[in-house]
Amino acid sequence: MSVVELRDLTKTFDGGVEALRGVDIRIDDGEMVAIVGPSGSGKSTLLQLIGCLDRPTSGEIHLGGRNISRDGDRRLSALRGREIGFVFQQFHLVDALSAVENVALPLLYQSSRRAERHRRAVAALERVGLGHRLHHRPAELSGGERQRVAIARAIVTEPSMILADEPTGNLDTATGAEIIDVFRMLHADGATVVIITHDREIAASMPRVIHLRDGRVEADPADAGPIERSIERSIEQPIEQPIEQEVPDGAACP
Ligand code: ADP
Ligand code: MG
Repeated sequence: MSVVELRDLTKTFDGGVEALRGVDIRIDDGEMVAIVGPSGSGKSTLLQLIGCLDRPTSGEIHLGGRNISRDGDRRLSALRGREIGFVFQQFHLVDALSAVENVALPLLYQSSRRAERHRRAVAALERVGLGHRLHHRPAELSGGERQRVAIARAIVTEPSMILADEPTGNLDTATGAEIIDVFRMLHADGATVVIITHDREIAASMPRVIHLRDGRVEADPADAGPIERSIERSIEQPIEQPIEQEVPDGAACP
């Protein structure tokens, strides 16, 4: 099933900047996708629209098979709280709160009891390998640890989709690779994961990379035409018939 389907999506900001100019993207349930592109190409705008943090100027956004483009604020924020976890480059943790208190914050909007919120926050921190840092404040944590806290906060509500906007942008290469491994683990456990990245190595390691430029999709392997798709299929499923037909010279398979 497609969790996300964007149809001819545009976003023009006040002042006339056309951040997105007709974007069609389909992301299936459980996919892991990287979004890359030059600064200003519309990556963050796109992620905010997928995550219901903003509304398109025109076009449609379907989440889980339902067109949410014209849903009201309350319905969108309920959907966001239930289905979507966000991770940002700047972590956006509350300095005055401990790790476990930061992670428990999204649960305040749900009706769970305090002890239950604490238990779930501890479990989320353990899942990202931070069970030993429950009571540290952000200032007492390294950059990589802060981002793990932010990821724990994103997953504490058990969303089906995790959206990350340059989550390794403030980290050194080795720490960034560890953070990407955390996203891989969440993906392996069934989450749909969409990551904006500037890092070529990280992008190259992703199963699908969508390239944006000037508010349009420049390249997306899922957009492969019928010929490319049939080649992909024949590579995946070896041809069963014996190949005895004459193949003209120069028409070798790729
Ligand atoms: P990226 O994340 O790829 O760097 P963005 O999606 O942040 O790109 O921005 C795309 C374009 O939209 C840029 O020209 C940016 O200046 C503009 N933009 C983004 N957010 C706003 C906003 N809130 N108001 C006006 N212009 C914006
Ligand atoms: Mg951006």
